[in-house]
Amino acid sequence: MEHVAVIGSSLAGLRASESLRQEGFTGRITLIGEETHMPYDRPPLSKKVLAGEWEPDRILLRKPDDFASLDLTWQLGLRATSLNGTTVGLADGTAIQADGVIIAVGAATRRLPGQPDWTHEVRTLDDTMRLRDELREGQRVVVIGAGFIGLEVAATARERGCDVVVLEGAPAPLIRGLGAEMGHAVTLVHGDHGVPIRCGIGVATIERDAVVLTDGERVPADVVVVGIGVSPDVAWLEGSGLELRDGIVCDATMWTGQPGVYAAGDCARWINAGTEMRVEHWTNAAEQGAFAAKNLLAVDRGDEPAPYVAVPFFWSDQYDSRIQFLGRAGANDEVRVVHGSIESRKFTALYGNGERLTAALGVTSPRIVMRFRKLLVDGATWAEALELAASLPA
Ligand code: NAP
Repeated sequence: MEHVAVIGSSLAGLRASESLRQEGFTGRITLIGEETHMPYDRPPLSKKVLAGEWEPDRILLRKPDDFASLDLTWQLGLRATSLNGTTVGLADGTAIQADGVIIAVGAATRRLPGQPDWTHEVRTLDDTMRLRDELREGQRVVVIGAGFIGLEVAATARERGCDVVVLEGAPAPLIRGLGAEMGHAVTLVHGDHGVPIRCGIGVATIERDAVVLTDGERVPADVVVVGIGVSPDVAWLEGSGLELRDGIVCDATMWTGQPGVYAAGDCARWINAGTEMRVEHWTNAAEQGAFAAKNLLAVDRGDEPAPYVAVPFFWSDQYDSRIQFLGRAGANDEVRVVHGSIESRKFTALYGNGERLTAALGVTSPRIVMRFRKLLVDGATWAEALELAASLPA
């Protein structure tokens, strides 16, 4: 291989490019990105950057010299629009003929039907700077969606002195990742700060001064932020021959099934220790980007590619609360608080499916929750997890 095209200039794409160099690839690497910014870190967007505590240069993923030392051909501000074998078509009508491709295009925000253009989303740095300008003391902010973006933005807006209300369609916040009971428990901190999270709410329309609900109620709003989830940004790959099913379908090694084409990050669906999944979190993007690159080179050399096996992990900071979650909880899993208490807003909870430990949740208990990581990696039983929990210091 002489030329690898990496599509997507965020975390997974950068890590893929770095990994190619670390593994000794001396050929050409073209890094294609739709945004014009150099690769930056997204977690601070809804927190430190939105709060006005950090300026954009602080979130660049590498120092300028480190970007330069990767010796990449940068194609920023340009969308990939097609893929034919390992040839990537670009929005300006040109094409890049590569020998290997890593697709790390991430996901795009979902929008409400008829959502006005003046409403806000927080996916990119530009989105964040636009919202930041409007978060002034006393502004009435309505956040639609009690997922990670909605809750982190709500906390930041509240800390900036705004009056904030969160509207969620599901019966509880963060229900898909944490389940209803823990979704409710970890977000009590919003009530402590005077931010109501109203669940089971249907939004009918958004007007200039209010969000109108399906029962006719008007929730007054100066600023409206929509955080109702994301979809893998893969429509442009229709007709490429890749299998698309809520993401790019890959095997356990992040291979798409097309020679020389791998995928990583939010846009990739793969087999993780026997279970097909797609994960939309930072650690997954970072690790998978590097993994896809290593496997692309391994196969080119004639070596065996390795499966990417990982315990999913995410964290979220809201006010002074840090939520950390390891593993994957099933909808019917038992959940048990094993350390601390919900009332104190500091606790660790375990999830189990009757037989195995499936996940561990920590709220402002970083050292305790991480003790369960090894058990999740090892596939520990529920009984073993409870035994460790019983041995923890009070
Ligand atoms: P998200 O975490 O998927 O949450 C979206 C929430 O909005 C869900 O609870 C969803 O409920 C709800 N919703 C959907 N349609 C709605 C409607 N019409 N009205 C009201 N609520 C509605 O997505 P997100 O918060 O937009 O975040 C976007 C992406 O950024 C995700 O991939 C997320 O993982 C990532 N992110 C991660 C972090 C972190 O890890 N700390 C922080 C920020 C962002 P349903 O589930 O029922 O659809």
